[in-house]
Amino acid sequence: MAKSDPQSRRHTRGFILEQLLRRKGAFRPELAAGTSLSDVSVWRIVSELRLEGLVVESRKRAPYVGGPSSFFTLSKHHCVVGVELSNGRLSVGIGLLDGALLQAWRHEAPPDLAQDGLEAICGRMLREALAEALRRGLTTLQVAIALPGYGGAAHRRNRIFPWDLPRLRAFVRACAPQLPFEITNSVIAQAAYDRYVTGVGRAVEQDHLFVFVGHGVAAAIVSAAGALDAFAPVEMGHTIVQRGGARCRCGHDGCLEAYTSLQAVAGIVGQEEASVLELGDAWLEGREFGPRVQAQLRDRLTLLGLGIGNALNLHGLRAVVVAGWPSLLGPEERAAVAHGIDESVFGGLMDDVSLDFRRPGTGCDPGASVAFAAWAFARRGGIDSPEPAALAA
Ligand SMILES: [Zn+2]
Repeated sequence: MAKSDPQSRRHTRGFILEQLLRRKGAFRPELAAGTSLSDVSVWRIVSELRLEGLVVESRKRAPYVGGPSSFFTLSKHHCVVGVELSNGRLSVGIGLLDGALLQAWRHEAPPDLAQDGLEAICGRMLREALAEALRRGLTTLQVAIALPGYGGAAHRRNRIFPWDLPRLRAFVRACAPQLPFEITNSVIAQAAYDRYVTGVGRAVEQDHLFVFVGHGVAAAIVSAAGALDAFAPVEMGHTIVQRGGARCRCGHDGCLEAYTSLQAVAGIVGQEEASVLELGDAWLEGREFGPRVQAQLRDRLTLLGLGIGNALNLHGLRAVVVAGWPSLLGPEERAAVAHGIDESVFGGLMDDVSLDFRRPGTGCDPGASVAFAAWAFARRGGIDSPEPAALAA
């Protein structure tokens, strides 16, 4: 493909922007190494992005021989908007092109909330977010929405939430008519949050199962070398682990989620899920549990491990990253997850399965959709940006 081809230009700009997002800034040789582009191409594209104000150059001492060198970062004069439905609430936030969340607006959104009500809440928060971006002198460049159980462009509805998706898409487009807009599954947004926010500098080098345990239990197969659109969501939370067991919100009985979700576990430790969300990652801080509660928690974590092990068997993966409430607990509880994996994964855990825990991110919504929006902007190479004036309406 010729370098002048518009698709090629979009792709090469996309490679550079994604590297800057992933590394939180880079020297030119790092960009060439990370994108497999020639140094000349990197220079040409970075110069173009600088002229457009999307990339900023500063002087910084490089980690190789020589004096201070040019260091490139994403502009802090532009922003993206993320919309997220998670943990029974709707959140809208603005964040920078590097995925950092600047400000969030949140509202309760129970599963039985009618679509008119949802749109009224979402519309108000979106307008506030876009107005706040303008007040801060930021140009909004991308909107992304993350929904649990979302199954792709042809998806109309699922059993987790009742709203008609084509109508919701049309509504968001009407709220922000000039802005590129993407919709994704919540777990893909959580994987984006892991790749571009919490897991920066600690990337797992092999394809792995990313598991997020929050209000739901979601997983995705993460391609270590691939872009987010190569990740595949896995409905792991609705794996039946107990026939005729506890009632799940999907309508079945005995799903993994009914035992290991934040809601299920908050009940064990005698706390309301809403207060857990309010406290965020600190919800277990300073809590001491008696032996009975500890045993119950370990039992739930072993069930989680069983579900993970079976997902590994199905997908042929040998590495796992767990985010969400299990990451808040100590070595004994983490060992219960490993024990469950060991009981179900073919060949046993000790053979060669790696297990990592990541900062949980409880109540950090809509950080995940903001991280996804930052990636969506980078992937399209920062091309087709709207005029800032069009956002004021
Ligand atoms: Zn279920």
